[in-house]
Amino acid sequence: MSTPKIGVLALQGDAREHLVALRESGAEPMTVRRRDELDVVDALVIPGGESTTMSHLLLDFGLLEPLRARLADGLPAYGACAGMILLATEILDAGANGRRALPLRAIDITVRRNAFGRQVDSFEGDIAFVGLDEPVHGVFIRAPWVERAGQGVQVLARASGHIVAVRQAGVLATAFHPEVTGDRRIHRLFVDMVRARRLSGGS
Ligand code: GLN
Repeated sequence: MSTPKIGVLALQGDAREHLVALRESGAEPMTVRRRDELDVVDALVIPGGESTTMSHLLLDFGLLEPLRARLADGLPAYGACAGMILLATEILDAGANGRRALPLRAIDITVRRNAFGRQVDSFEGDIAFVGLDEPVHGVFIRAPWVERAGQGVQVLARASGHIVAVRQAGVLATAFHPEVTGDRRIHRLFVDMVRARRLSGGS
């Protein structure tokens, strides 16, 4: 089957590392900043960065509603850190009025923004990840955690008892940054998810 074309939202944040990780995981990556680019991708990665800034850039670039519509239509997506926050249905500590992170509502979770950040800004650790034999080295940078996972959501990993990786249908989200470690297993998992949904014609 042909190589899936996977976009990386490149309005802000660490898009470049995801482009490299996706290419090394068997996908054809492309940056997405405009509506016509969003329209042609088979799936989308939303990188880490700053979720309030990214939300407002999505509004400014006229991408917020088109992206919500594509996700509602079944566009597979992977969000890391700020990307996890944006993919959620509900965001706690979303930011001050007028400058809030805006949920894309693609996965039935409630996330708390900067949740670990209130305890310790950044930390790293090896965490067990469902479906992977060896633990993943999680790099957490002012990371969110998942406070509620809906019934259809599979919990894939926890750190200090908190949910930090989830999946629902074609949507994957991690509170940590696998793109910075050189370990491509999470990106390969996502590329496999995208391939499987294309094969099943799933939406
Ligand atoms: N704290 C950031 C936010 O609220 C996320 C940090 C990250 O993506 N590394 O968006």
